[in-house]
Amino acid sequence: MNVEVVTIGDELLLGFTVDTNAAHLARELAAAGIGIVRRSTCGDAPDQIAAAVKEALDRTGAVITTGGLGPTSDDLTKPSIAAIFGRAMKFDDAIWEELKIRWKSYKWPGGIPESNKTQAMIPEGAVILKNRHGSAPGIWLEDDRGRWVAMLPGVPREMRGMLADELLPRVRARATGTPVVVASLTLRTIGIGESALADLLGPLAKGPPGLPLAYLPSVEGTDLRLTTRNSSSDVALEKLRAGAAQLRAVIGEFVYGEEKTDLAAVVLDLLRSRGMKIAVAESCTGGLLGARLTAIAGSSDVVVGGVIAYANEVKESKLGVRSETLRDFGAVSEETAREMAAGVCERFGVAVGAAITGIAGPGGGTPEKPVGTVCIAISAAGAIKSTKVQMIGDRDEIRRRSAQAALNLVRRALASS
Ligand code: AMP
Ligand code: MG
Repeated sequence: MNVEVVTIGDELLLGFTVDTNAAHLARELAAAGIGIVRRSTCGDAPDQIAAAVKEALDRTGAVITTGGLGPTSDDLTKPSIAAIFGRAMKFDDAIWEELKIRWKSYKWPGGIPESNKTQAMIPEGAVILKNRHGSAPGIWLEDDRGRWVAMLPGVPREMRGMLADELLPRVRARATGTPVVVASLTLRTIGIGESALADLLGPLAKGPPGLPLAYLPSVEGTDLRLTTRNSSSDVALEKLRAGAAQLRAVIGEFVYGEEKTDLAAVVLDLLRSRGMKIAVAESCTGGLLGARLTAIAGSSDVVVGGVIAYANEVKESKLGVRSETLRDFGAVSEETAREMAAGVCERFGVAVGAAITGIAGPGGGTPEKPVGTVCIAISAAGAIKSTKVQMIGDRDEIRRRSAQAALNLVRRALASS
């Protein structure tokens, strides 16, 4: 089955709101074996809505819209689409009663506003898609040839809920034959760039047969996404698992997880399983590493604390970095990072210390130490490892890459301990 998506809203056309609804619909429908063959966006004007939806309907006979179901004058989706089907709008008492009950629970003084009455207006012959997450009901409108339009709300949370609860079951039930799906599996790598990964993968660089491979670099590393099409979901999962195993056999040491795994969570698990605690000493990242670790629920049994040692005097007084080290090698040096890591371990009485010192820019670079020079050191059970890295990007990226690189250094230090 092929579907078109029309997202409705002036705010989307103007770029004030990013169209996350279209992306969500694309992923969910693909996973259910339903192809989106085209998506478009139009403004809130009735003629725009009618034109966009009519064209889509003429091509596929199956259209999903989002937006314009609210109670205000810019919410004109329902009458515009009703007109395409030649249906009148009618007031639905049952919807109005439900809206009144919902508004009672809001305890809004004066009760439900009059303008909400438009939400109880529905095209003749429409099926109501229940909204358990908000007030605007969705609409399913179908003609005698089986051509249909499903109208979902614009608010992303409500749209997602209605899609899962009401629309997907309905659309699935209409699909004939064994459903085939588009399914993906992501391997998350760190410590190696996309071109080096491709070289390392050699004959697998484009993915195992039938499983095209996408390279997705970001400040968190390079994600590798395998995708399969045209299999049932069980078979797809098997193919993806086998493909991922082939990739891991070659690049396993760089893989820290799958799908949305957070490297900080991986590090916390490693520490926990070894009964170790960690403290951080941060200069240019100013607490980002600590924030990454403590963003994970349950981190308190592993994370002890840290020092934001931005000024040299703090590196000396709070971490015990020697003034000779700072003088001879500079604040941004592996020597300083190593003393920061050793110092934070000692002062906090922990087995693992992670230290970061670098030049995040945009100022402060020199020919010897350009912007993006970052030194990271890990002290783990008395052994200190350090590295000097040249990070790319702006200040924000350099800081985020630094925290991620430090997490990876902890991961590697622990994996080999
Ligand atoms: P509406 O249902 O058109 O009144 O939209 C309600 C709110 O949902 C808008 O203010 C937007 O912030 C948001 N919204 C509408 N359409 C989209 C979309 N396609 N993607 C993400 N957010 C949206
Ligand atoms: Mg709108």
